[in-house]
Amino acid sequence: MSSKSITVVGAGLAGCEAAWQALHRGVPVTLVEMKPLKFTPAHHSEKFAELVCSNSLRAAALSNAVGLLKEEMRRRSSLIMEAADATRVPAGGALAVDRELFSEYITEKLRACPDLKIVNAECGSVDPDEVTVIATGPLSSEAMTDFIGTLGCRGLHFFDAAAPIVEFSSVNMEKAFFASRYGKGDADYINCPMTREEYGRFYNELVSAKEAELHDFDREAQNGKDELTVFEGCMPVEIMARRGFDTLRYGPLKPVGITDPRTGTEPYAVVQLRKENNEGTMYNLVGFQTHLTYPEQRRVFGLIPGLENASFVRYGTMHRNTYLDSPGFLDDTYAVKNRKNLFFAGQMTGVEGYIESAGSGLVAGTNAARLVLGEEKLIFPRTTVLGAMAAYVSGGGIGRFTPMNANFGIVEPLGHRVKGGKTAKNEAIAERALEALAALPE
Ligand SMILES: Cc1cc2nc3c(=O)[nH]c(=O)nc-3n(C[C@H](O)[C@H](O)[C@H](O)COP(=O)(O)OP(=O)(O)OC[C@H]3O[C@@H](n4cnc5c(N)ncnc54)[C@H](O)[C@@H]3O)c2cc1C
Repeated sequence: MSSKSITVVGAGLAGCEAAWQALHRGVPVTLVEMKPLKFTPAHHSEKFAELVCSNSLRAAALSNAVGLLKEEMRRRSSLIMEAADATRVPAGGALAVDRELFSEYITEKLRACPDLKIVNAECGSVDPDEVTVIATGPLSSEAMTDFIGTLGCRGLHFFDAAAPIVEFSSVNMEKAFFASRYGKGDADYINCPMTREEYGRFYNELVSAKEAELHDFDREAQNGKDELTVFEGCMPVEIMARRGFDTLRYGPLKPVGITDPRTGTEPYAVVQLRKENNEGTMYNLVGFQTHLTYPEQRRVFGLIPGLENASFVRYGTMHRNTYLDSPGFLDDTYAVKNRKNLFFAGQMTGVEGYIESAGSGLVAGTNAARLVLGEEKLIFPRTTVLGAMAAYVSGGGIGRFTPMNANFGIVEPLGHRVKGGKTAKNEAIAERALEALAALPE
């Protein structure tokens, strides 16, 4: 391999992690990012590793697959995890971050690396002789998707939505209250309680509210009519509501474990708001990804007790989310099978989620660096979440390939029974994963 450095395209979660893994191994990196010259419809900040929607990186516990993935990444010197731990905001059992500080931490840390060269440009092709990691994300610009088309891989797409953010000072705390579910940990969430009557009124308005127009590029013909293909984990609240009157009460509006201090009882439904920043000046509506028009968001979400006069810092939006038909195209290091010096990383490979995207960047960046250094490729075992995700992306499942969050279903089964129920079993899987990881070379 003649290349002495690598090129990473896209300074998102995956690209930053991939670049860091190479720099960490002494391999110089050129990082190509189109911001601030051009922004995708969901990116607004000039900084790297921008979180486009929720500020939550989800569960922290090792008995949860995404919690285990985070710990695996910490043990592989992940920059994304270092930044997340340093900029954490209280969020019960989840790891949530101050998005501004998080992006700033990563941007500064990378900018301080003498072996990193940053190029601000929209990239539409790569040098075939260079070791390259493409990590341009689910909203990759057209120049990049056109280039990918020349490589012989199909792109698939579905839709992802972002939830609105409101100013804390505009929340009516005479009606809303701070509490955590079952009183566990600190009272980190704002809770907006609803009676049966309030819920009914909100529900009726939500299911009939006006949705934003679909752009031509956001239109997908299915069965002869235009429909949105949405990812279950990021489903717009109005689409979820249409599944039935009580669906939201078993989902994002579930009241179990929450007691309204004013009535001493469990409300009929509860909308939760999670801190956006450490100062607690902004909160997002948990599970309220939406495709409603902005005036409808103000009107319908204003029916939530406590949010009558809410001031929106950002409205919810919905965007196309493109990923590759990776099985058979990529190997289990995220390298293109017939072009070993070209790697992909991030959401565009078919992993789903912030941490999953960064995790794939870690594997791709490690292997791109190893290729430059003349070392063997490093396949993470399927007993780890990092390895299981790479195996899923390169091998697929049954039927149409769809994006996948980290989960224990894709990890190699334990092969023996564990007493103590699901948590004990997951903890045993986690222990095995961390042992396997410790045995891997740098
Ligand atoms: C609207 C939306 C909401 C989402 N909400 C969540 C959520 O709440 N929680 C969650 O876990 N996941 C969410 N996701 C999914 C996913 O986790 C994020 O998209 C995540 O940012 C993906 O990381 P990435 O590194 O693959 O891409 P990104 O973080 O998007 O990074 C890609 C980078 O590449 C740059 N780029 C694009 N094209 C080019 C080009 N041609 N040349 C140079 N640079 C280019 C972009 O400017 C960007 O900086 C959401 C996705 C979308 C689209």
